[in-house]
Amino acid sequence: MKISKINIVYVCTLGIILAFGISLSSMAQAASPTKALDEQDVYYPGTEDLGSNEMRVIACGTGMPNARPKQAAACWLVELGNGDKFLFDIGSGSSERLSALKIPYDYLDKVFIGHLHSDHFGDIGDLWIGGVIGNRINPLRVWGPSGPTPELGTKYALEHMEKMFTWDSASRLGNVDIRGQVLEVTEFDYKAVNQEIYNENGVSIRTIPAIHALDGPVSFILEWNGLKFAFSSDTFPNKWWMEHTKNADIAIHECFITPDDLVKKQNWTPGAALNVGTQVHTSPAQFGKVMSEIKPRMAVGYHFFNDFDTLPNVLEAVRSTYDGPLALATDYMVFNITKDDIRVRMAVIDEDIWPQPATQKKLPPDASKRVGFSDFISGGRIPYADVVGKIYDDINKKYGTNIPAPDSVEMEK
Ligand SMILES: [Zn+2]
Ligand SMILES: [Zn+2]
Repeated sequence: MKISKINIVYVCTLGIILAFGISLSSMAQAASPTKALDEQDVYYPGTEDLGSNEMRVIACGTGMPNARPKQAAACWLVELGNGDKFLFDIGSGSSERLSALKIPYDYLDKVFIGHLHSDHFGDIGDLWIGGVIGNRINPLRVWGPSGPTPELGTKYALEHMEKMFTWDSASRLGNVDIRGQVLEVTEFDYKAVNQEIYNENGVSIRTIPAIHALDGPVSFILEWNGLKFAFSSDTFPNKWWMEHTKNADIAIHECFITPDDLVKKQNWTPGAALNVGTQVHTSPAQFGKVMSEIKPRMAVGYHFFNDFDTLPNVLEAVRSTYDGPLALATDYMVFNITKDDIRVRMAVIDEDIWPQPATQKKLPPDASKRVGFSDFISGGRIPYADVVGKIYDDINKKYGTNIPAPDSVEMEK
């Protein structure tokens, strides 16, 4: 057959189409929509083992004093390969983040508060009482600093919180297992420098003074298994942080919004923005300076609304003074830390989350402890005994119990 020019073009084109078709079909095979990808670069709570030498740190609040849907106020969870978990600060809105992590509340029983601003301990009541409803049997243990006078210390604050919840606590007596309602507060000297305030199970936590707003604030250093975690809570750059957090594996330090964005976005005057943004708090450029001195394996900046239009300004200012490893945190950022590696990912959470079961057997509530109603309020009850009696019957049948419906017992009397 005589091959014409046109035929050569045709043969070549066919070859290319065939080759293209083959490569397409092999690509389609590799990326079959019925097969999962080998690795998801996100963290799904409750689905990963923590290595025996590994530390996992999760940002549960990274924003500003006004909690917003995207960011709660200060809260950091540290999980260790020995099974221990610690909370550093518990700011407004953060208890919602904690609930998303599928951790039984019995394990969220140790909280270290850096200072008594609402954006650093505003959700303590929610964790304390909500944790009991969410199946915590353990007491809630809280560590926090003293103040220049007793009423400016952690003990005073939490004693008054307990008083604030007097009605709440009374209402639960005899209705639920309230062993988790015990609050154990350890107040330590805010002026203590590098003093150990916790040492259990190979975990050491030390405190150093912080400089922020008023005497009282502190920062924390946790060490375990050769790994060092440092958390500033809120502070102006200071000598204690410089001396004691050097070479941390992860150093989390406040990094406030830039003064210019405080004027533009928060509607503050330039004077207020400069004072709060560089004197009460640490601005991004100051944060960079701090990190370039202590040289952590991972520097983490938090305490700013981390948005498309603020992040570039924060980053530019940080990079004017620091060129090392950096994460500018937002809520649900996850750090997996070992001696060899620090992996930074985002968690993907399930908004339909329910509390996990208690880790210990719950006691039946002692009904004799109930405070009960006055005759006046009791007299207003409309029992619907037939409707409620059926609910009791159905549950008794389903679970093999024999719990009498209260109003049917009343009627029999
Ligand atoms: Zn503060
Ligand atoms: Zn703060």
